[in-house]
Amino acid sequence: MAYQENSSTAESVSFRSFFTSVATAAIVALALTSSVPVCRGQEMAEGPAPRLAADPHTDSHIAGAIKQVSPDRIRQTIEKLVSFGNRSTISAQDEDSIKAGKGIGAAREWIKAEFERYSKDCGGCLEVKTDTFTEQPGERIPKPTEIANVYAVLRGADPQQANRIVLVTGHYDSRNSDTFNGTDPAPGANDDGSGTAVSLECARVLSQAAAKLKFPATIIFLTVAGEEQGLNGSKHFAQMAKQQGWKIEAVLNNDIVGGDRNPQQDTSVVRVFSEGLPAAASEAEIRRIRMLGGESDSTSRELARYIADVGRSYDAGVKPLLIFRLDRFLRGGDHYSFNQQVFAAVRFTEYREDFNHQHQNVRTENGIEYGDLPKFVDFDYVARVARLNLATLASLAWAPAPPTSVKMQTKNLDNDTTLTWEPSAGAAAYEVVWRSTSAPDWEYVQTVSSGTRATLKVSKDNVIFGVRALDQAGHRSLPVVPEPER
Ligand SMILES: [Zn+2]
Repeated sequence: MAYQENSSTAESVSFRSFFTSVATAAIVALALTSSVPVCRGQEMAEGPAPRLAADPHTDSHIAGAIKQVSPDRIRQTIEKLVSFGNRSTISAQDEDSIKAGKGIGAAREWIKAEFERYSKDCGGCLEVKTDTFTEQPGERIPKPTEIANVYAVLRGADPQQANRIVLVTGHYDSRNSDTFNGTDPAPGANDDGSGTAVSLECARVLSQAAAKLKFPATIIFLTVAGEEQGLNGSKHFAQMAKQQGWKIEAVLNNDIVGGDRNPQQDTSVVRVFSEGLPAAASEAEIRRIRMLGGESDSTSRELARYIADVGRSYDAGVKPLLIFRLDRFLRGGDHYSFNQQVFAAVRFTEYREDFNHQHQNVRTENGIEYGDLPKFVDFDYVARVARLNLATLASLAWAPAPPTSVKMQTKNLDNDTTLTWEPSAGAAAYEVVWRSTSAPDWEYVQTVSSGTRATLKVSKDNVIFGVRALDQAGHRSLPVVPEPER
């Protein structure tokens, strides 16, 4: 335990000082007019001078939308979820229990009704759906059990881009000390009433905003069950998405974002976990990653960097603290189900967890209070995490599609770098971003205002490149790391 704590703290501190230094560097560069910052790996490029990649891009509509997130609504959602008593996947879901407002069946019906209510308020702009299946008995499933994922779809306004999907999720099932206990209280206020509330609140606010803001891409607001029994719900949903060929560009999994009120809590940050080597990579892909030095450039890692960019661009009230690791020790989460199906997915979790307030029977022992109760949740903090999620969803759904077939020419030995790519739907321009191989986040950016090709006086041997698409208003897509082409 002590080792885990030290390890995670040390890593957190190093990333935080990195972001602070990048922010400081950006301010210094701005103060010194537009002089190009000089360092190795950043030689002069053709065309306009490169900028620091830490420059923010803020859209006033998105900045306005995040203000609509309500801590009070989030509190109501979490208290309602807790009122169902026990939301274990193996708890009651018969008609009588649903009527009595007890068990996971009642929680499922309430979430569905909430999504339907939001949809009514936006003139039917949301499609409310369930993904229901029967899980056969397994390690934590004693008998065949119906599991339902409930979700709402805000369909993209551009027919050419509506097949692009960004998704936010939380799990609405809960547990107490015993995985097989479906009757005694399992309030699950933080784990994961908080993440469920983030998904619902993003749905409420973005469906309201959709009347004015026409997002070209589709946004899905998901709540899954079965997480505590073995990620059963998310596994089924991700497999369905893969089989049906859904083009999911990003999954934001919120699990334990309640900002537990303990003295060591840091409510100024939320951790964002992302895998390095992709779970779904084949042996051949692992060999290629090894050769290219691509260990820190999975699509999930690029998504994490994108969230850092959103965190600099919008005043969500909480900053993403990137953790370059799949998850915490001894724990897992629904983002992994999506990673296994080759989707980019990250996990948001509060900075400091209190394990007395997770997976515990509600009780007091030796003066210590156990149990995942609403009184330990900081609803303002959950709202700030929801704002960061919302700004990320809106930025991605508004941006053009990421460029495809991004190639880096390696036919000849050459100290310059030439990149090519295919045009993206909705793109008005492109940007090449790069960083030295030892830097955690993008350092420089060069605009390519026309065409789908760029030659830079920067050696591909010394840096990692990415290419992203921009629309007229400057919304940025996820960057794509080029494949070498010979
Ligand atoms: Zn959880």
